[in-house]
Amino acid sequence: MAKSEKGASVKQIARERIGILFDRAHERRDEPALANRYVSLAREISMRQRLRLSKEQKRSFCRSCGAYFVPGKNLRVRIQHGKVIYTCQECGNVVRVPIQKNTNQVR
Ligand SMILES: [Zn+2]
Repeated sequence: MAKSEKGASVKQIARERIGILFDRAHERRDEPALANRYVSLAREISMRQRLRLSKEQKRSFCRSCGAYFVPGKNLRVRIQHGKVIYTCQECGNVVRVPIQKNTNQVR
């Protein structure tokens, strides 16, 4: 069977929802309980639909404890040896991301 348009649109809707949830999380970043809830919903949708989160989305929360990051509040960002070091101040998880000069990488 050919891939139906329906399948594509379900993913499209899911992707939109994920975007909305991250927007909401951002709006409610002063209320961690709410922001974290939005993040966990977005992650649930992405897992169910097997959608990848965008780079920005992935970096906006802690993969370890699921906290929505608010720089200067529960996220510490440092640059060291050509890498960006993100430290979650909720659970102490550390993520190191190499600084990329080439932005059109293959996803
Ligand atoms: Zn964490």
